[in-house]
Amino acid sequence: MRLANKTCVITAAAQGIGRATALAFARQGATVIATDIDFAQLEQLKAECEQIQIEFLDVTDKQKTQDFANKYKDVDVLFNCVGWVAAGSIYECDENDWEKSFKINVDSMYYMIQSLLPALLKSGNASIINMSSAASSIKGVANRFAYSATKAAVLGITKAIAADYITQGVRCNAICPGTVDSPSLHQRIAAQAEQEKRSVSDIYQQFVARQPMGRIGKAEEIAALAVYLASDESGFSTGTFNMIDGGWSN
Ligand code: NAD
Repeated sequence: MRLANKTCVITAAAQGIGRATALAFARQGATVIATDIDFAQLEQLKAECEQIQIEFLDVTDKQKTQDFANKYKDVDVLFNCVGWVAAGSIYECDENDWEKSFKINVDSMYYMIQSLLPALLKSGNASIINMSSAASSIKGVANRFAYSATKAAVLGITKAIAADYITQGVRCNAICPGTVDSPSLHQRIAAQAEQEKRSVSDIYQQFVARQPMGRIGKAEEIAALAVYLASDESGFSTGTFNMIDGGWSN
């Protein structure tokens, strides 16, 4: 049990990578607090794994993240998994897309880390994991203008937190996936198919084709990396960007 005696908070745990990670953390013996704004899906997660605790939490609301931190004062691992993809180049990016991208992908991490820092410092052996992407400062990806800007900011947050708390028992690392099978990926594929008047399978193949390995990733593969970064096995790692993209950025 690699996460026995650890209390782990996960944002965006109702589906996709966050959900797979909640289940993986629970399998490793962690006390898991799974949060999201989709409470119906969280209840399904709880039905699948009774030991997981669930909480409605909108991570774009600073006060709500503080209320959450006031309730959970013993936390060893914070996985900031939340993220939202705005499609399009700078030309298609209106102010709403830009602001929503930063609110969900970046402000949320500022709020969650700041609120939970007292608990993480009290742990003295804490790990923060921030969800970035290969589409960031790592790789230029077409039609991901606002998204890539926010995911590059996540890498900056990761480095800064790692530097500030390196002597105080709080590590901070980032995960940078390539394309991963998740509910929102299928929504994006459907939306693109509709917009370009092409078939869903055509667009899906386009996503597959850009992966040198010839396949997209599985949420469980990202969850396995999150388990490692949460565990003491990664104790010598902080401020790292962990590429997990089937060689896409190679
Ligand atoms: P997803 O996009 O399918 O699910 C996102 C979850 O976030 C949903 O359950 C949604 O309810 C929740 N959410 C949205 N707004 C919220 C808010 N304000 N507060 C709390 N929860 C909120 O999940 P995914 O595709 O597995 O992506 C998870 C993370 O991984 C994201 O940060 C994403 O950017 C990143 N990522 C995904 C891929 C991919 O191809 N799927 C690739 C690289 C990085």
